[in-house]
Amino acid sequence: MRIDGKRKCSDCSKEFEWMSIVAQPASAPIYTVETIDKPQARIVEKRGDTYLVNIFCSHCKQLNAFEHK
Ligand SMILES: [Zn+2]
Repeated sequence: MRIDGKRKCSDCSKEFEWMSIVAQPASAPIYTVETIDKPQARIVEKRGDTYLVNIFCSHCKQLNAFEHK
């Protein structure tokens, strides 16, 4: 399963897109191959429905850490 979003950099304030591939929910019937067409974020932690995401800004390379639902 794929999650993605847009983030405004905490350092340079420019927007960039990100995505990440995460484990399928156990209820998902079929594994689908996901296309990687955006900068890949790292999922640091999953708490319930919330993912803690780390991604380097596409513009200034500053590390952005934030929560995504
Ligand atoms: Zn930046």
